[in-house]
Amino acid sequence: MKHLAAIAFMATAVAAQPWHDVVAYPDIDTYFNQPTWDTSVWTQNTVVQWPAGSLPNSCAVQMAARGCAASHVQVYNVTYSDCDRPWVFCRCDYAPVPIGRTADVFGRLPVHMRSMVRHPMIVPNPDGQCCCASPDNGDLMVAGDCQIPTFAHEIGHLIDNRGDVYGEDFSSKPDFENALAADTCSISNYGNVNGRHEEFAEMSIAVLYNVHTGLLPTVASPATPGCFNNQLNTIKNKFGSQFFAYGGTCVNRLPDSPTQPASMRVRIKRSDLVGRAGWCRYKHDSE
Ligand SMILES: [Zn+2]
Repeated sequence: MKHLAAIAFMATAVAAQPWHDVVAYPDIDTYFNQPTWDTSVWTQNTVVQWPAGSLPNSCAVQMAARGCAASHVQVYNVTYSDCDRPWVFCRCDYAPVPIGRTADVFGRLPVHMRSMVRHPMIVPNPDGQCCCASPDNGDLMVAGDCQIPTFAHEIGHLIDNRGDVYGEDFSSKPDFENALAADTCSISNYGNVNGRHEEFAEMSIAVLYNVHTGLLPTVASPATPGCFNNQLNTIKNKFGSQFFAYGGTCVNRLPDSPTQPASMRVRIKRSDLVGRAGWCRYKHDSE
């Protein structure tokens, strides 16, 4: 039921009007998964599991909302070589992805993108799809073996929401609106019909790859090379070196969610479940 509720909410949030008649990469992941993986920079990590009995509050809430009781939540300190402070990951013990796999993929993102995330969580994946959500508090839920572009999309929401002025979405500001209007295509089918937030998040996939390599995959016909360059350059100028470039160390990280006993009763509020970024992405893979 919770799952259905999330889908219903998403349906109401969808703006059906497309930005453009043409999109550059209809199913963007098929264009970016392999090139992004092949060019990503791996960062060494160490994983240390917490003793059973306590977990971050937001993990308890998000896991409980997905039917995973606190007694089934594993907590890990994942420390990367480019940041002294670990990320505290939470994993439902019957989730389909091992901690090492997700810690590795997360570590292939630039440290400044990782710095936007509070708690990565590996949640149950009952319908077998890779499905992620990123409420505005910086928590990032992974429900399957998500690839780097999926993380880039979700962290793109966090950069959109917090990267410029905290809480003021850059995708709703004139610089981005004008760039999108000036372009002759949208980045993807998903970005084209789900509002500016999703267009920005989809663009984040292209920005990550382009900042690092200077390249872009060939666009799908009838889109033409450069058809989303206004968006690309606007995001790169604003956020490219600050977030999307590899190198450096962690900065401006959010404090961890308070630790609580696993035995503590969990209250789930609707606002805990769906931030402005909402459930998104990979539901459309089943269409
Ligand atoms: Zn999204």
